[in-house]
Amino acid sequence: MSTAKEVILSGIRPTGRLHYGNYFGALTHFLRLQERDANCYYFVADYHALTTITDRREIYQATLEMLRTYVACGLDPHKSVIYRQSDLPCTAELALLLGMVTNIGHLERGTTYKDKLGRLQDDPKMEGNPLSYGLLGYPVLMAADILIVKADLVPVGDDQRQHLEMACDIAAKFNHRFGETLHIPKALGRDALRLPGLDGSAKMGKSDNNTLDLLDDPATVLRKIKAVPTTTDPLPLDTESNEPEMVLPKMPPGVAVLYRLLSLLAPEDAYLDFLEQYRQGGKFYGNLKKEVARYVSEFNAPIIESYNDPAHDDAFIEEFLRENAKRVAPVALETVEACREAMGIGRSLYRA
Ligand code: ATP
Ligand code: MG
Repeated sequence: MSTAKEVILSGIRPTGRLHYGNYFGALTHFLRLQERDANCYYFVADYHALTTITDRREIYQATLEMLRTYVACGLDPHKSVIYRQSDLPCTAELALLLGMVTNIGHLERGTTYKDKLGRLQDDPKMEGNPLSYGLLGYPVLMAADILIVKADLVPVGDDQRQHLEMACDIAAKFNHRFGETLHIPKALGRDALRLPGLDGSAKMGKSDNNTLDLLDDPATVLRKIKAVPTTTDPLPLDTESNEPEMVLPKMPPGVAVLYRLLSLLAPEDAYLDFLEQYRQGGKFYGNLKKEVARYVSEFNAPIIESYNDPAHDDAFIEEFLRENAKRVAPVALETVEACREAMGIGRSLYRA
């Protein structure tokens, strides 16, 4: 299947519930882009989750829950092709082929790998198998996810910038060695978001126990927001901003995450009003937290309602997964077969 339409692809790991970083870093773009006349592919990255999840009972249920949340947020399996990564096993074959042109040194500089290595040094008794071959090769599998559908655009958060650049490098190297075979996607825009964690750390992450989730009820939202550290001591400063017209002044990290949420959810005048209060100093954090919690709960309410819609049961999700996998398989197989030919092993004699 070759088409002139723009191809868009992105995935999220079923390692926990969707949070505000996932939503504003990725999902919000999925929703906008599915309205374009483009081929949108959105998947739940269950192979990728295996580098983190150790309890085998969790992963399938987490996958279904993530898909139900996708639908509750407005992703439409009729407008976008929504599938499960492992329903496209030829992605693993492509990752194997791409591994042949990927330097280990390149992978060892990967941020996810380096981060785990650092954590393991701090905690040598860490559970699971943190330094697996799968973790080191994570960017190769991600390259396969992207290249297999010939993606033009990959809407991901800023934390994935390096992995996306690696995918482009791997494709360029493959093409250089074996001839023009793989389509190289566009780089990530400079305005990509990285939402800090509620604990004030640099990134909110499903596996980091510092998230504000789309399915959090009002009591949970209030509890989590109240617990955000709002020390006024001088701390490492957040100078990043996605909205140049509303540049955040330098703030301690916990305060910065509250303002970031406010900038995403509140009307501009309410945001600017709190910004002015920050500049003037004083004791207003209690009020700020209450307001942020209110905006968050209002945002979550319709998502929670749709998530609990009995029509979106497991059978509904499994049915569209089956149908959508059929829509992505032809283009994926075409890419893998082209790579096999380019590398000299020739097309599979087994696949029909
Ligand atoms: P994990 O901690 O298990 O890696 P995660 O929260 O990092 O989970 P992913 O599934 O790795 O989520 O990423 C899904 C998408 O969400 C990616 O596009 C990623 O860039 C984006 N994303 C994740 N966290 C943030 C964040 N804090 N800010 C902006 N985007 C984010
Ligand atoms: Mg992640």
